[in-house]
Amino acid sequence: MDRSITTRCCIAGGGPAGIMLGYLLARAGVEVAVLEKHADFFRDFRGDTVHPSTLEFMYELGLLDEFLKLPHQKLETVTGQVGAEHLSFIDFRHLPTHCKFVAMMPQWDFLNFLATQGKRYKTFDLHMQTEATDLIEEGGRIVGLRAKAPDGTLTVRADLVVGADGRHSTVRERAGLLSDDYGAPMDVLWFRISRKADDATDTFGHIEAGKLMVMLDRGDYWQCAYVIPKGRADQIKAEGLQAFQRRVIEMSPFLADRVGELKNWDHDVKLLTVTVDRLRQWWRPGLICIGDAAHAMSPIGGVGINMAVQDAVAAANRLAGPLASRTLTDDDLRAIQERRTLPVRFTQGLQLTIQKRIVSRVLESQQRPKPPLLFKLFNVFPPLRRIPARLLGLGIRPEHVRTPDVLKAL
Ligand SMILES: Cc1cc2nc3c(=O)[nH]c(=O)nc-3n(C[C@H](O)[C@H](O)[C@H](O)COP(=O)(O)OP(=O)(O)OC[C@H]3O[C@@H](n4cnc5c(N)ncnc54)[C@H](O)[C@@H]3O)c2cc1C
Repeated sequence: MDRSITTRCCIAGGGPAGIMLGYLLARAGVEVAVLEKHADFFRDFRGDTVHPSTLEFMYELGLLDEFLKLPHQKLETVTGQVGAEHLSFIDFRHLPTHCKFVAMMPQWDFLNFLATQGKRYKTFDLHMQTEATDLIEEGGRIVGLRAKAPDGTLTVRADLVVGADGRHSTVRERAGLLSDDYGAPMDVLWFRISRKADDATDTFGHIEAGKLMVMLDRGDYWQCAYVIPKGRADQIKAEGLQAFQRRVIEMSPFLADRVGELKNWDHDVKLLTVTVDRLRQWWRPGLICIGDAAHAMSPIGGVGINMAVQDAVAAANRLAGPLASRTLTDDDLRAIQERRTLPVRFTQGLQLTIQKRIVSRVLESQQRPKPPLLFKLFNVFPPLRRIPARLLGLGIRPEHVRTPDVLKAL
């Protein structure tokens, strides 16, 4: 069956960017349709870090207490081992925010929470299992999109189409938007291993000659990121699971008694192919891309979710009024890109510097590493640990929710 709907804003993609924008627009009384190609939000691990900046939005939206009832761990500080030295790098406990920690929470809980909030508004229209496949263009302007739904084709006509469909965005590809690829020297193998009550509680990075692994405390398990040279995943797979288990033990000997939990490459280990890219222009008349669709982030700092959410808040602040009054212009779309380019560029610049100065050197090195001077300074002068906490936890030019809540106005 083929169906058609008309709405003010159609968002392709129900990830952090799309769901947050959909919720904020609906909350401001704007008709919005969010299309998500999966049947639910429960899927592969995609990062669990809800940063203080995102938690601050929850506070501004009046949702923080309810949100923090969802199971999560608090990450207040980050420590690590570089070669033989143990160091403390980051301390979130002094941030000028209501939550002075990163909430470690499965991404599907975060998305389910926002989607549930969105459904309180009658203008929020969420279509699961609906995949945007093509754009509708008239006279050089995007006026809607076509999607594959479980029962046939869905045609959506909208004043604005938003591409929030992630790093392999169909919308950005169909719109012909050009991106610059900044490269990455590494990919990441993600896996989880059970955690025992007497294990350390810190989130922990460990750097050795040619090796780098990060372990995030998730309560009853460790979420581990084993960093490998770019494109080397197949070779590591070919060496066999036991060889990989030995690599893990080399980095964290206390996991020797449970590394056997990694039984199956496809099921237990998830490859993140690291990409860092950014669209030259995020918009065309009638269309804008946000989140990973506009700029895929390196996993360094775990900021991808939070940059996507910041984009969504900035976009909602600028779009809610013009969409409601049907006065949207190209200037609104241009303004969103202008506002968000600086923080994205700055953060990607930092990530690229760390990739080049630390990750590449470590992965190529045969010698036991010594901590860089900056890491030593963070360790010796605790107040300095507030600087990376601020850059990661809040970023530069953090957004604030400026859109109204129609339910409060009643
Ligand atoms: C393995 C892994 C680990 C990661 N770890 C972290 C981390 O620890 N911390 C962190 O901050 N970030 C992490 N990230 C990155 C983070 O997941 C992304 O930066 C963030 O989710 C971007 O949000 P988004 O909404 O822009 O895009 P996505 O989260 O990619 O959401 C896009 C959504 O669009 C849907 N979609 C795609 N195409 C279509 C279509 N054609 N039609 C309809 N729907 C479509 C997808 O199903 C998806 O739900 C990780 C990513 C991966 C893959």
